[in-house]
Amino acid sequence: MIRRTKIVATLGPASCSNPRILERMISAGLDVVRINFSHGTREQHLQYAEMTRSIAHSLGQTVGVLADLQGPKVRIGKFEHGRIKLNVGDQFILDSECVLGNQERVGLDYKELPNDVEPGATLMLDDGRIVLEVSAVRDNEIFCVVVQGGVLSNNKGINRKGGGLSAPALTSKDMEDIKVAAEMNADFLAVSFVKSGDDIRQAREMVHAAGGRSLIMAKIERSEAILALDDIIEASDAIMVARGDLAIETGDAAVPALQKKMIRAARTNNKIVVTATQMMESMITNPIPTRAEVSDVANAVLDGTDAVMLSAESAAGEYPVESVAAMARVCLEAEKEYMVSVDRRQPINHPASIEEAIARATMFTATGLKIRAIAALTQSGETALLMSRRSSKVPIVALSPHESTRRKVTLFRGVYPVEFGKGLNDPEVILELAEDELLNRDIVRHGDIMVMTIGEPVGKTGGTNTMKIIRVGECRTEENGEAEKNKDVSKNS
Ligand code: PEP
Repeated sequence: MIRRTKIVATLGPASCSNPRILERMISAGLDVVRINFSHGTREQHLQYAEMTRSIAHSLGQTVGVLADLQGPKVRIGKFEHGRIKLNVGDQFILDSECVLGNQERVGLDYKELPNDVEPGATLMLDDGRIVLEVSAVRDNEIFCVVVQGGVLSNNKGINRKGGGLSAPALTSKDMEDIKVAAEMNADFLAVSFVKSGDDIRQAREMVHAAGGRSLIMAKIERSEAILALDDIIEASDAIMVARGDLAIETGDAAVPALQKKMIRAARTNNKIVVTATQMMESMITNPIPTRAEVSDVANAVLDGTDAVMLSAESAAGEYPVESVAAMARVCLEAEKEYMVSVDRRQPINHPASIEEAIARATMFTATGLKIRAIAALTQSGETALLMSRRSSKVPIVALSPHESTRRKVTLFRGVYPVEFGKGLNDPEVILELAEDELLNRDIVRHGDIMVMTIGEPVGKTGGTNTMKIIRVGECRTEENGEAEKNKDVSKNS
């Protein structure tokens, strides 16, 4: 059985201080690395991408690169003595003009906060560990009462329960980082704290202006993003269920249902979805996950997510390799039971394109006949994406001459990239060689039925328009095509 759900792991000192660790993570099943622009320098980010690709290449694998923008830093400033302790009922002031904080007040990195709140608003600090209720706002000062106390230290994050912070999704740092992402040829670019589809459209323009070709992923972590979900999904190529910040803004209990809703909405709209944050949190310090974490990963698989993501577990934890291996093991097992109900809930709409019609016909066929595999000969990866929106146990092999396409499909559930087809023009020969490729990889055997999709005429621009059902090994052309076959065609990825 080949694992269908993809694994994303955030890079950091735990995974990159020694190339051998990253190599073991890739061997354990890592599909996409996440480079977190909230930490590190431009040089480090470029080095992480380069290191990933060179290790993946040496292992004969394809690994995607996801560049994750920091977004607005809505944070408090620093304290005179690094930290204070707040008790329930204490009065405390958030003051955008305070330079160094004390027991009475602290400064704000985010100077706009006094304009964004009013009496009665709830502010959650340090991932929701400290809760303040706003009692009054005067000029640069927000007067609060401590509702949930604890130790508060320098530069902790602030969220407003229910949303309502005006900070724009793209900061000037993000705009510079978009250029770095283009320079590293990132396959995916994640935009943090998105509020609307316009945030994504703006990011896409910047990516194109910088010469980048990344797919754009919207991180859904603000209350406003839930309200604007349809528009955001429409504007994006992918979404991330960013459960960390989302749980603070919406309340943690709302997140499981929101996760299901988002996964369904993304799939229904032919978009990719990644489920993120605290999936294997205890593995930061433990070699095995808790039962609850196993269930969480399995449930995301059953919900139909394309990928599950590791954050601190792989960036700063003690067990980055074990975390990937545990995710792989849990995904595989959950997939045995996988029969997402999303397909049944999908509206019966008409296919929007020829590619979608072919993709649907293929998946319909794959479910009805006993199809062993689908070989999608693809330039852009689009047809493979459309196929993978339908739940199925049949592997979709994306055969593409383009490295950028092969790297993109690393995030598509049930799709496997294979290098193939450079310089080939004869469709008969292409189909035979594609069949060979799957035979050589033991994905199909002689006598199996497989489906191939291709865009004809080969070499002309335009998408997939042809689907063939083939019994493996049955109709080989003996003559012709030998010269074509001998071309440099198929180095495996
Ligand atoms: C999250 O909030 O869940 C998330 C993935 O975002 P980040 O890790 O960038 O804060």
